[in-house]
Amino acid sequence: MTRLALIAHDEKKPDLIEFARSHEEQLREYDLIATGTTGKRLTAETDLEIERKQSGPLGGDLEIGAEVARDRLDGIVFLRDPLTAQPHEPDISALLRICDVHDTALATNRASAELLVEGFADEE
Ligand code: PGA
Repeated sequence: MTRLALIAHDEKKPDLIEFARSHEEQLREYDLIATGTTGKRLTAETDLEIERKQSGPLGGDLEIGAEVARDRLDGIVFLRDPLTAQPHEPDISALLRICDVHDTALATNRASAELLVEGFADEE
């Protein structure tokens, strides 16, 4: 089963909710994980079932990175906010790095997120 992580910085959470809603039927077939607050909002605002990790600033990005390191994840949609400083920037950089090390699909904006889920749909 496709295992996908969903993460969004605060300013981008509404975009991620909208993205998840517009692909809800497809995403329902996937094993979904998310950082804490993103997962909480997705659970409240969509019908998707989400496995929630810690909140990003408390280590959630690193937990997701650990899954990448173990080749357990097929992809990540991480809607980042490039205009606001994040206190856990080192953790975010580590997550991006481990995706490159393991050649794990990573979308950091809405346009590439659309292509990523289209790609998964084509694989099915
Ligand atoms: P959050 O974490 O979903 O707990 O807000 C996301 C992040 O800041 O990386």
